[in-house]
Amino acid sequence: MNPHQLSKATVAVAAALALSFSVAACGDDGDGGSGGNGDKINVGIKFDQPGVGLKTPDGSYTGFDVDVATYVAQQLGYEPGDIVWKEAKSADRETMLQRGDVDFIAASYSINDERAKKVDFAGPYLLAHQDVLVRADDNSITKPSDLNNKKLCSVTGSTSAQNVKTKLAPDAQLQEYGGYSECLTGLENGVIDAVTTDDSILAGYAAQEQFRGKFKLGGFKMSNENYGIGVQKGSELKERINDALEKMVADGAWDTAVKENFGPAGYKNEPAPQIGNIVK
Ligand code: GLU
Repeated sequence: MNPHQLSKATVAVAAALALSFSVAACGDDGDGGSGGNGDKINVGIKFDQPGVGLKTPDGSYTGFDVDVATYVAQQLGYEPGDIVWKEAKSADRETMLQRGDVDFIAASYSINDERAKKVDFAGPYLLAHQDVLVRADDNSITKPSDLNNKKLCSVTGSTSAQNVKTKLAPDAQLQEYGGYSECLTGLENGVIDAVTTDDSILAGYAAQEQFRGKFKLGGFKMSNENYGIGVQKGSELKERINDALEKMVADGAWDTAVKENFGPAGYKNEPAPQIGNIVK
C-alpha cells in the first residue's frame, strides 16, 4: 500500500466511524432521557402561527409556544441548541406522538376528551377562545350565527372546524385547509369570508405587517381552548412538564413570554391557568 492509498483508507475508516457515531447519536435522541449531555429532544410546534409558533425566513423559531417549550425543555435538562423543532400540523399531532416522532408537542394544542383517548396532556398553560377573523370592511358578521351560509375557513383536525360543524354555525360553508396561512390568503383575496380558530392565533395574523388594517377580529369567545402539552400516553414526562410549567408561572417567565409574544398583537390573554384545571 503506497502512502496515498493508506491515507485514503484512513479517511474511509474515519468516515465510517463518524457515520456510526452520528447514527448512534440519532438513534439515542428524543427518548426524553437525562439530557444536558448533547442528547437532542424533538419538539412539535406550529410553523405558521405568528406570536404562537412560527418558523421565520432566517430559520429561527418564535412565539409563545416556542418560549414555553424552550423553558420546559430546559427544565428537562436540554439546552435550546438541543431542541429539534418539528412542524406539528393540527391533524398530525396525535399521530406524531403515537409514532414517537416527537417527545412533546406545544402547538396551540387544545385539551379535549377525544384527543385524551390517544395522548396525555400536561398543563393547561394558556386559555384561549375560538373567534373569527373577517375583512376590516365586512360588517355582515357580527355574531356567530352570521357565519351560516358564509364561506368559513378552518384547519383540518382543529377543534375550531369541529365546533363550527357541530354547534356554532351548522350551515356555514366550511372549507378545511391544511394550515392557517392558506386560510389567510383566501380571506385576503375574497375566496373566504371568515377564518375561524383561537383568538390567540388570529390576533397574531391580524398584526402582521402585510395584513395591517385589512382584517379584524369578531371578539366572539365561542369556546374555551385549554392549551396543553401533548405527550405519549403513559409518558413519565407529563408530571415533569407540569412541574416545569408551574415553575415558569411562579418565576415570572410565563408573564414575560406572554408580553413578548402577545403584546405586539395587542392580544388580551387570560391569566395563567392552574395546572389540571380545564375550563369547560
Ligand atoms: N386550539 C385549537 C386546536 O387545538 C385550534 C388551533 C389549532 O388547530 O392548533 O385544534
